[in-house]
Formats: sequence, C-alpha cells, structure tokens
Amino acid sequence: MRGEMKILVLNCGSSSIKYQLFEMPENIVLAKGLVQRIGEAHSEARQNTNGSDLVVNTEIGDHQQAMGIIEKMLTDSTKGAIASLSEIQACGHRVVHGGEAFTGSVVCSTELESVIENYSELAPLHNPANLTGIRAAKKMLGAAPHVACFDTAFHQSIPQKAYLYALPYEFYDKHQIRKYGFHGTSHRFVARAAASFLGKHKYGVDLITCHLGNGCSIAAIKNGKSVDTSMGLTPLEGLVMGTRTGDLDPAIIFHLIRKGYKPAELDTIFNKKSGLLGISGLSNDVRDLEQKEKVGLESARLALDIFAYRIKKYIGSYLAVLNGCDAIVLTGGIGENSPVMRERIFRDLENLGIELDESKNHSLRGTIGEIHAPDSKIKILVIPTDEEGAIARDTYALVREKELAV
Ligand code: ADP
Repeated sequence: MRGEMKILVLNCGSSSIKYQLFEMPENIVLAKGLVQRIGEAHSEARQNTNGSDLVVNTEIGDHQQAMGIIEKMLTDSTKGAIASLSEIQACGHRVVHGGEAFTGSVVCSTELESVIENYSELAPLHNPANLTGIRAAKKMLGAAPHVACFDTAFHQSIPQKAYLYALPYEFYDKHQIRKYGFHGTSHRFVARAAASFLGKHKYGVDLITCHLGNGCSIAAIKNGKSVDTSMGLTPLEGLVMGTRTGDLDPAIIFHLIRKGYKPAELDTIFNKKSGLLGISGLSNDVRDLEQKEKVGLESARLALDIFAYRIKKYIGSYLAVLNGCDAIVLTGGIGENSPVMRERIFRDLENLGIELDESKNHSLRGTIGEIHAPDSKIKILVIPTDEEGAIARDTYALVREKELAV
C-alpha cells in the first residue's frame, strides 16, 4: 500500500541530531533536518521539506528539548510535513557500536538499551549520545516501536584472522579488543546497490567499497559479505580522514608520552587535529584543499597525495584478500563528488586491471554510474550512499516482521 507507514530516522551525536522523516515502503523523504550545538548558548535547528527551509535559532539545552523543537518543525502548519506526531508509526536509530552482539538491526527493548550502554566503553563519544536519542525519542513518540541499526553489524561477518590484533589473546577475552569496523550501514547499502547495478545477486558479488566522507573507511566484500575493513576497535584506524590519523605505528604514542604529551591530549590530536587538517595545516575539507592546491599551496597537495596513497594501498591489499573483485565502489562526499581525488586514487593501476575513463570520471558527480574505461578488468562505480534510507528500510522490515533486507 502506498504511504503505508511514516518512519522517523534519527542520528544523534553528543551535540547534534540529524533526522529524516520517510514515507514507507516507497522510501520518500518527507522532511530532513539537523539540530546543532545542543547544550550551547546559540543552538540552531534547520529543516527542509519539499524544498522549503525552516530555521530556528534558540538555546537548546539538551536532547529532550531538541526533540521538542523537532516536533514543532515537523508539525509546523506551513513548512512542516505532518499534522501530528501520532502519524509517525516507527523510529529508526543509528547506533555506532553494537560490539559482537548484533549482526543486524533490532527492535529496541529495555534490555537492548543496557547492551548499548555496555558498549559505551568502546565508543564513548557515540553510544551514550545514541542512547540519549533513543530515550528522548521514546518519550516523544509514545508507543511507536524503535529500531537500532548498528554501524558495526555488517562487519560481524569478518573472520577471526582479520579481526584479531596480534596482541596477547587475553586482551580479546578480557577486554574485547578486536577490529569491529564502522560505516557498516553505508558499506552494506552501496554493496547491495552495486550488485543490483551489475545485475548480480546480492550474495554473488566481490567488491571493494570505499566510504570517503569526513570519516573514511574501506571494506573488502566477498559474496556480498564484509570480510575485512579498515576501521578497527574504534573509527580511528585505517584511511587518512578529515581530522583523524588512520593507521599509525603504535610506538609513536609511547614516544610522544615520553616527550611529555598526556594520553588525553594525544587522543584529541589523533582524532581532531590530524589527517588532512593536520598535514596541510589548512583544512579538513577536500573541496578547500583542492582549491588551495590549484593556487599552488604545497601543503594542500601533500595532504591530498597522502590521503589518496593510503586508499590505493588498501585497495591493493583488499585485491589480494579477495583474489580480485568485480568492482570498486566509491561513496561519501568525496567519493561521490571529487573527480580529482578519484583520478589521484586510480592513477597507475592499469597493470592490476583497473583503469579510469577520464571523461566519465569528470562528468559523474553525485549520481550512480560507472567511471571505468571500456577495457578495465575491474569496474569502478560511484554510488551515492543513503544510510538514513537503509535505516528506514530496516525499521520498516522489522516493524512489519518481514525478513530483514540484509
Ligand atoms: P560526513 O562523513 O560528515 O557525512 P560527507 O560524506 O558529506 O561527510 O563528506 C564530506 C567531504 O566531502 C568533505 O571533505 C568535502 O570536502 C567533500 N566534498 C563534498 N563535495 C565535494 C566536491 N564537490 N569536491 C570535492 N570534495 C567534496
């Protein structure tokens, strides 16, 4: 039935809430919004419905209050999307860390909330905020069911040889130290979309999926299932990111501690002041850096080169893991929109059977399509990600008690 169910999707951070209201099963976006700087004096809420914007600037003290603002915006008489919150029949939540407990999305119960709470130790910046969001939304939406979709779930198929670090085994037993991987909802979404684009079954494709946004990660996908990914125990490992280091020699930490740096200070530097921003000293934003490189700023060129080189190295290693693949998929703000970065990544890979088509690469931005040369053995696809849409579909399927579309 058309417009059978309205589903709200929430992505709660410590000081922000991103939301989208969907009409299901068509996956139509009715409203899209962002509340920022929650807990600060000058908070801002912004919503777009059918091309018309609504902006509220006021002090928003906490997530509960932010939900009140979201309610007002969604039900606004001229720029809202619904007449009353009772129209929302279910709510899907992005939850960053599901540890080893979840291989797919699940309906939220009180027990589930305590599992999410337990994993807060592994994701101290994310899980507490996700949980606050679930609790605030439960208060706001009354009896509507809530579904949690974990960033880690899609990567639970990674085998032990790939997820264990070469530490004493007891670190895994006692402290759950292992690779979990993140951005799973995005990797799964683009993997399914790539299979369909290639006319193959969702479990019949081998892919390397590259999620290149502010956070960046890459995954090796065998027969539609994740078998390795670049992020680890936390989202710090792997590729160079906007402000995160990605892979490092762990001895750098001991060395810097001996030089007088405090662990908390290094945590902030590695997560918030490194990556593209740290190397360039200019910006964490690829668009800015590409502009600055054009006008001859050497540090911008260096940062972009290091960023692309790390991706290329991972592509090489995942080609070995998978013994070749059908396609390499690019997504996220950078993967979807930067032909210049794509050219940097895929330069000089023709001996591995990977060749970009220059004109297709330059003409494709923000839409699904292929950008490889006609005789490239491995295809290169650009697929815009849709994490919120995927959460809405999981929520709909679970609420309808249909088999999860994983
Ligand atoms: P998030 O991870 O926060 O969702 P996005 O997926 O939106 O982030 O990606 C943000 C990144 O995408 C930024 O580095 C931004 O510069 C880059 N980006 C967006 N559009 C372009 C573009 N047209 N050219 C180059 N980079 C772009």
